[in-house]
Amino acid sequence: MSDQAGPATRRETVAVKVGNVTVGGGAPIVVQSMTNTDTADVAGTVAQVAALARQGSEMVRITVDRDEAAAAVPRIKERLLKIGVDVPIVGDFHYIGHKLLADHPGCAEALDKYRINPGNVGFKDKKDKQFSAIVEMAIKHGKPVRIGANWGSLDQELLTHLMDENAKLPNPADVRAVTREAMVQSALLSAARAEDIGLARDRIILSAKVSAVQDLIAVYQVLAQRSNYAIHLGLTEAGMGSKGIVASSAALGILLQQGIGDTIRVSLTPEPNGDRTLEVKVAQEILQTMGFRVFVPLVAACPGCGRTTSTTFQELAKEIQGFIHTSMPEWKTRYPGVERLNVAVMGCIVNGPGESKHADIGISLPGTGETPTAPVFVDGKKVATLRGPTLAADFKTMVIDYIER
Ligand code: SF4
Repeated sequence: MSDQAGPATRRETVAVKVGNVTVGGGAPIVVQSMTNTDTADVAGTVAQVAALARQGSEMVRITVDRDEAAAAVPRIKERLLKIGVDVPIVGDFHYIGHKLLADHPGCAEALDKYRINPGNVGFKDKKDKQFSAIVEMAIKHGKPVRIGANWGSLDQELLTHLMDENAKLPNPADVRAVTREAMVQSALLSAARAEDIGLARDRIILSAKVSAVQDLIAVYQVLAQRSNYAIHLGLTEAGMGSKGIVASSAALGILLQQGIGDTIRVSLTPEPNGDRTLEVKVAQEILQTMGFRVFVPLVAACPGCGRTTSTTFQELAKEIQGFIHTSMPEWKTRYPGVERLNVAVMGCIVNGPGESKHADIGISLPGTGETPTAPVFVDGKKVATLRGPTLAADFKTMVIDYIER
């Protein structure tokens, strides 16, 4: 099956084990996501973690914000294992993480990683004590930690200090540049502090999330230059619908192409009661279209134009994509490597035959005014011409034949 040109060389980072998954050190870039259920709701959280994992999320983060949530964590983990979902669970802590981990040893043990935000770990003089307490818990339980700085909850003390220093310079930098530097320093100084306390470098992952694409790119480039910690990449508060998808794809795509990023999350705001697994699909599609990972067969389809005035072509493209996706659970077991398949469904003679030849198997439907026949190409060669009402079923059979061969 066909290979595209390769992506850029990955930046070398220290490998970190998170449960049964490796992040960094040249391991495949890991897809992760986060629930939006109340973690104290065990059944609801188990259902959502399972849905995210089944969609392909290789780690799932859950909020641990209070005693009830911390108490639920071991039960969530246990129930997931009972239904065969062995996905690493990451606990997201803010403000009182040190207390929750100390008061709930079952939670501290059940989680596969702790995520802490240096800006929200505590306040002023208590900050170092609380940060140290969480790191010590991680050491005690043998867990990795993600130190995740965030533009919206940046360490204000550090930011004020850098702003004051900047103001003394003859040519002070602008506020955004100082804030970006504070993001990087917040992550790196916290990581250095964690190592001083005794957390090994292969237990530390860094992130520095920003909601503006250009700031995010600049922050991660500097973070990557200054350290070899494994990096979690994500645009925070990306937004809803196509805006969130486009912003995340643009930001993550540029950084990934520069070799930066060992694990990614696409943070989309779902529609109320919308599909939470969309963020996993988008993350997978970013990695697959860039050539880093392969998850599902790709169906290339042209956009259609005035040459495709009927809906036949769109219907076939949709039907073939749906057919492939619903067949994947069975195909994956029966036909290892099937996820590398490339299928093309094209709308007319202009680009149809050419694009179909580049796919493993492709069909070029007739555009308006063209002879009502659809040539099928397999491995670059025309092998059949389909027509009539059985065209879709015939093409599906040919796809299955191709996979079986
Ligand atoms: Fe239009 Fe044909 Fe190009 Fe599809 S392949 S966009 S139908 S010209």
